[in-house]
Amino acid sequence: MRKAQIVAPQTPLELCEDAIPTPPPKGAIIKTLYSGICHSDINQWFNEINQGDKKTHFTDNPKYKFPIVPGHEIAGVVHSLGSEVDPDAEDLKVGDEVVAHPWISCGSCRFCYENENSLCDQRHNGLGVGTPGGYATYVWVREKKYLVKVPPSIPLEVACMLPCSGLTTYNAVTTLQPAIERMNKLKGSTSVLLVGAGGLGLWCLQLAKKILPKTTRIVMADINEKNLKVALERGADGTVLWDRNLSEAEAIEITKKAGTDGGFDGVIDMVNSKITAERGFKSTHRGSKMVLVGLYGGGATFALPGFVHGLRTVQGVLVGRLAQLRELVALVAEEKLVPPPLTFYSLDDAFNAMCLVRDGKVQGRCVIKF
Ligand SMILES: [Zn+2]
Ligand SMILES: [Zn+2]
Repeated sequence: MRKAQIVAPQTPLELCEDAIPTPPPKGAIIKTLYSGICHSDINQWFNEINQGDKKTHFTDNPKYKFPIVPGHEIAGVVHSLGSEVDPDAEDLKVGDEVVAHPWISCGSCRFCYENENSLCDQRHNGLGVGTPGGYATYVWVREKKYLVKVPPSIPLEVACMLPCSGLTTYNAVTTLQPAIERMNKLKGSTSVLLVGAGGLGLWCLQLAKKILPKTTRIVMADINEKNLKVALERGADGTVLWDRNLSEAEAIEITKKAGTDGGFDGVIDMVNSKITAERGFKSTHRGSKMVLVGLYGGGATFALPGFVHGLRTVQGVLVGRLAQLRELVALVAEEKLVPPPLTFYSLDDAFNAMCLVRDGKVQGRCVIKF
């Protein structure tokens, strides 16, 4: 039997049982061992994305149908392979430890063909979003290419976070990398501000320290002093406490001071609200790049001359490509990166864990352990 939690808009999860699914011809069934709880599971539960001037809904896409089994941070073992998959192929066998690249879209358009699934119009098809995800004891995966083998040096409870929080921040850091390398060449040193020191931010910190030039100062900003303490322990070169009592002018002043030469050459915003995006932007040097990651939502106002006279770039990233997940798994295995603090919950207790994530009461990441 398969046990799964299902979600419908704004109601508690419901535990259900059905038969273990049959593997699709070109795909596989994973027996789930760990499944991460991501903040976007909460957005899905509320069926809402704040666009600033209006709210949009997952169900605006007619192909997206509740109820759904959430969960897109899935690690486990291959339980069975499809009829068209060679069971003796070296790259994937029953029993292998794997993570799933959950961002599976239509599979037939030009973007999907090039594995640029995030650009596909049917990106809502992914595991835990449009098709059943990891809050279940078994998960159906359409094609075996979406399964990435996990080397023994990465514990599966760490591996489960790589397809979303890990991959998103890997994409953010590598998107920022060319701009920072260029400024490093020109100036000799640079600084990068990472906004949000939760689970996503701590992954980002680890990756930024490994990937960006050694002469880059990495500073983390957060409203929570405890999170910043963990960030310092994990290698941040500096922190900025965005105390709620600060005026905007004061917050920007202390942020700029935390950079090098009174500002930052790069920003990765993992919250991405009006306040964080505007503060980040206003704390940058000319020639900087800002990467927007978070899904907090809302709108922000930027003075347009700041882009022209300031030669600034702002870019959004949405999770990452399959090839990037393979690169990330190899990097984490080689560098033994330290994951954010983890708290484990049972499948039966998944709804309580989601409520804690919703209320911002979690340090690091929550993971369902099977
Ligand atoms: Zn996620
Ligand atoms: Zn497509």
